[in-house]
Amino acid sequence: MHNGLTSEGKLREACGVCGGYAEDQPLAFLACFALYALQHRGQESAGITAGPGEGRKLWIKRGLGLVSEVFPDSADLKGIVCKLAVGHVRYSYGLDGRLPENTQPLKLRYRHGELAIAHNGHLLNSLELREELERQGAIFQTDTDSELLAHMIARQGSENIEDALAEVVPRLRGAFAFVLTDGRKVVGLRDGNGFRPLSLASLEGGGYFLASETCAFDTIGAAFIRDLEPGEMVVLDETGAHSRQLIDSPSANLCVFEYIYFARPDSNLQGRNVHLVRRELGRRLAREYPVRADIVSGVPDSSIAAASGFAEEAGLPYEMALVKNRYIGRTFIKPTQKMREEGVDIKLNAVQKIVEGKRVVLVDDSIVRGTTSLKLIRIMKRAGATEVHLRISSPPVIGSCYYGIDTPDKHDLIAYNNDPEQIAKMTGADSIGFLSMDQVVASLDLPQDVLCQACFSGDYPVLP
Ligand code: SF4
Repeated sequence: MHNGLTSEGKLREACGVCGGYAEDQPLAFLACFALYALQHRGQESAGITAGPGEGRKLWIKRGLGLVSEVFPDSADLKGIVCKLAVGHVRYSYGLDGRLPENTQPLKLRYRHGELAIAHNGHLLNSLELREELERQGAIFQTDTDSELLAHMIARQGSENIEDALAEVVPRLRGAFAFVLTDGRKVVGLRDGNGFRPLSLASLEGGGYFLASETCAFDTIGAAFIRDLEPGEMVVLDETGAHSRQLIDSPSANLCVFEYIYFARPDSNLQGRNVHLVRRELGRRLAREYPVRADIVSGVPDSSIAAASGFAEEAGLPYEMALVKNRYIGRTFIKPTQKMREEGVDIKLNAVQKIVEGKRVVLVDDSIVRGTTSLKLIRIMKRAGATEVHLRISSPPVIGSCYYGIDTPDKHDLIAYNNDPEQIAKMTGADSIGFLSMDQVVASLDLPQDVLCQACFSGDYPVLP
């Protein structure tokens, strides 16, 4: 379980992956631009491997920081001779994530040559598998699930990477999307529950590309083909894109938080556009929890779409009551409650001329600890709002995530210990309303059982 704390009081995504195979394409350069599009999924490190170069070796560059910091001269990447590339951005949920050795892709040598792996998610049985390998003499250099997978692949007798993965992947329990390469092919795969997203696109001029979110395809001019199925492996090589199912009975459990908060608004998941889904969440929230008010505002940036849907449905003006300072820099994990609260102070400010004397509906996508809501309502009231009605476009978060998302321990979740009325009192809200899961699911127009919603329901599809 991850106990990382974030200054924004939000659940946080834990990595973005991409990779492609093509003849005559600047794949390292394309991977860099795909990573720019995936930057919201992780800001602590970035890396690209590409090749094969001379002696069939893979080129690699990775480091701590944003994509623009690790690859300040991205145009130089055009010069790298390659048929394939794999990229990664990392969000860390502990100090280990900021260790240079844990940056990805992870590159290792094994008997068939080189192997480079990028990973998004969290393996639930990694300790058990690690111990088993250590008993057999394996020496680990990092704490990453990528290295564990590399060791497991290396121990297979199989002559090719697909067969090795077909042996290994059914033994992995948890949430993962891997993109990896052996210098000959690029392989993308999703866990048997499909917790984390991964999609396939074709490149203009030939070849294929994989990415955690479809917004990466738009950035590089690739045409979306489809999302990978849970448990599916797609192999990209000189003969095209080939699919193979690795899990006997896969089930669909895409993380519903991808729609609510994580994914970029211009991405599509399971054919649904994230921005439009969020707007619909807001509309339904207005119907489920109507309130007499003067204006509606959203917490920037992820709640603006839901707030505009709320305003539209309620027939109220949408106003920009809160302004976000975009130049504070990344929000690194802050060790104390006080520091987290100060983080909000620095980042968000109320527009006094807009909120003064007004009854404000403040829409946010989720409440985790409650510290952000408390601070924002205080800011609004200090700026002259007469009432602040909190409306949340998701149900109360009552459980931790075990599938790769950075969440506090459940005891630190405000909704684990308190009902909505108590939360309103604690945050200073004049009223509160959480969108029900039925309405979230109805917004998506998907069957309820194809989504993971465990942190809202406590019903975990794979036991921790
Ligand atoms: Fe997403 Fe919550 Fe499920 Fe984790 S537990 S995968 S955050 S819905």
